[in-house]
Amino acid sequence: PYEVLVIGGGPAGSSAAIYAARKGIRTGIVAERFGGQVRDTLGIENFISIKHIEGSRLSDNLEAHVKDYNVDVMMPQRAKSLKKKEYVEVELENGATLKSKTVILSTGARWRNVGVPGEIEYKNKGVAYCPHCDGPLFKGKRVVVIGGGNSGIEAAIDLAGIVNHVTVLEFMPELKADAVLQERLYSLPNVTVYKNVQTKEIIGTDKVNGITYIDRGTQEEHHIELQGVFVQIGLVPNTEWLGDSVERNRIGEIIVDNHNATSIPGVFAAGDCTNSPYKQIIISMGSGANAALGAFDYLIRN
Ligand code: FAD
Repeated sequence: PYEVLVIGGGPAGSSAAIYAARKGIRTGIVAERFGGQVRDTLGIENFISIKHIEGSRLSDNLEAHVKDYNVDVMMPQRAKSLKKKEYVEVELENGATLKSKTVILSTGARWRNVGVPGEIEYKNKGVAYCPHCDGPLFKGKRVVVIGGGNSGIEAAIDLAGIVNHVTVLEFMPELKADAVLQERLYSLPNVTVYKNVQTKEIIGTDKVNGITYIDRGTQEEHHIELQGVFVQIGLVPNTEWLGDSVERNRIGEIIVDNHNATSIPGVFAAGDCTNSPYKQIIISMGSGANAALGAFDYLIRN
């Protein structure tokens, strides 16, 4: 059996694998690919100490760094289920079962898409999902935020301080965000809110230059000229495969304590698949390191 088995090769998993291997213990990693969401990111400017790096390059660096250590890399592989017996057993989609004394779950998350024409086409060309990451790219420009829940309204407030103007599009007749966020939003001079509207299409040439939406009350179609679209309709953790094995919250995030331990002794979790409030590369790497140290601590006590 492994002493530490990491599931997922994004920033959290890579960091966990390196921290575990540096303790000289038998470490394995099951990865679909290295980099996770970072592979899909054009440029990163908030990875502290590196002013700018392409996502593909950071992903290659993660892979090289993990492979620099004595880590069993199983790739491309996906985990299918997890059970705690004498060891923690992880079944892979290829039918193999891996045993380990501890497991670190780091299967990340994915942004929910609005699914309108133009969204995929203009991803990284005006369509963005992360205001902390991409907000500054739209300095002085006009943007729309799709989604009026807490994340959408937080994004709109955040962006209003950077961009020229923010329009919020909410499908339902009311915003779902907390009252205190709504109050703050409505106090800002450069924000417009449209409720009960449905996004129809994101439009552009080489980059986004507008959006069309339908007023669900009147069925009228409207067009707004802008340079950026932030989609904020939810981040979904990749945890469906765990079923009831590990305790998860209402939205499926794995619940962890401050050692990144889950409800199963010996099973830890890190990064975007957990209930950590903010989802960023640097935070995921920190939590991967914390989980590996938590697992090491567990191993020396058990
Ligand atoms: P992930 O990166 O999601 O990696 C998890 C990996 O596990 C994935 O490869 C996934 O395929 C794999 N996996 C899933 N299920 C299984 C399974 N059953 N078995 C095996 N493997 C599995 N953050 C920043 O700090 N700065 C930025 O500029 C920035 N820009 C972003 C831009 C975009 C377009 C996106 C989508 C995200 C951005 N983020 C940014 C957020 C950042 O990428 C994430 O917070 C970070 O990648 C999370 O790391 P993670 O390791 O927890 O998860």
